Amino acid sequence: MTDTIANVRARPVIVPMRRPLATAGGAVSEAPLILVDVETASGIVGRAYSFAYHAWALRLIMAMYDVLADRVRGQALDPAAVQEKLWAAFRLLGAKGAAGQAISGLDMALWDAAAKEKGRPLYKALGAEATATPAYNSKGLGMIGAEAAGREARELLDEGFGALKVRLGYPTLEEDVAVVRAVKAAVPEGTPVMSDYNQSQEVEEVIRRMKALDAEGLYWVEEPVHYDDFYGHAALRAVVKTPVQTGENCWFPGEMAKCMAAGACDYFMPDAGKIGGVTGWRGAARLAAAANLPISSHLYPEISVHLLAATPTRHWLEYVDWAEPVLAEPLPVVDGKCTPPEKPGIGIEWNERAVDKYAV
Ligand SMILES: [Mg+2]
Repeated sequence: MTDTIANVRARPVIVPMRRPLATAGGAVSEAPLILVDVETASGIVGRAYSFAYHAWALRLIMAMYDVLADRVRGQALDPAAVQEKLWAAFRLLGAKGAAGQAISGLDMALWDAAAKEKGRPLYKALGAEATATPAYNSKGLGMIGAEAAGREARELLDEGFGALKVRLGYPTLEEDVAVVRAVKAAVPEGTPVMSDYNQSQEVEEVIRRMKALDAEGLYWVEEPVHYDDFYGHAALRAVVKTPVQTGENCWFPGEMAKCMAAGACDYFMPDAGKIGGVTGWRGAARLAAAANLPISSHLYPEISVHLLAATPTRHWLEYVDWAEPVLAEPLPVVDGKCTPPEKPGIGIEWNERAVDKYAV
């Protein structure tokens, strides 16, 4: 008999970040998270978390988890079937924002429980091999100016990575260029340096900036304009060499399909907390495989390492340590790569003392 969902418990925490990050989209110095535990009738606990972006958003997403808990209690432990029913329930209200985050986070916890029920690591439950994915260090290189960026670039590589990402969108093009040159000068020749405008630019302005930056050899330029200005992305792509990366703010595979249809991206980076969890990621991976579109992850490295192993066009894992203070163990990085752990499910446990400490 299939196991059933007995309860969903969501707990908000705010954890300090070791390296506060300032981007053109705003500054973050602490990570507001919601920790989700799905308990099944047979006593399995599926775990996942949602990244809430803002402390004030915790209440919104918590309210959505409350609503979802009431709807899914007693249902079979079948994540795809649960998500289909939730989609039907949200057809009129819409499933973006807090609803989409809770639907995605719940899905991740359900998949964790479902994989544990089979006694398999998540990647294996998804039919994949334990493939390693190269990881770039995304923890730092916020908008700190050229001199500090050069120094921090070396520190970030010294943590065991072979690639990193720099945030752009300074008041002037000259500052953007100076920061990129300082980072490039500080790291070994050939080190992939990704860049991110965090949706900060107008189309005309980012075309002007990227024409100037094209000669600097950036590995990709991420979210040059507002995330759903897909034709703006396409206009940039048409006139610059630097590959355009986007996708972290796309809701569910349907929005990804629109992004692809507009010719908006050379690369795509789903966020497990917005694409619909594991169920949504699988849809995204199928779209990408059909179009030979390279897929990188956004945040959620602990589950993304499994999801990328199960993605035929896997590209890069974005490494951040923002959930680490409440995890029993961090995801290890070996030779600049991450490999999914062999424990059942996603392989995360809470550090309950830390959870108590950072509870809000
Ligand atoms: Mg980004």
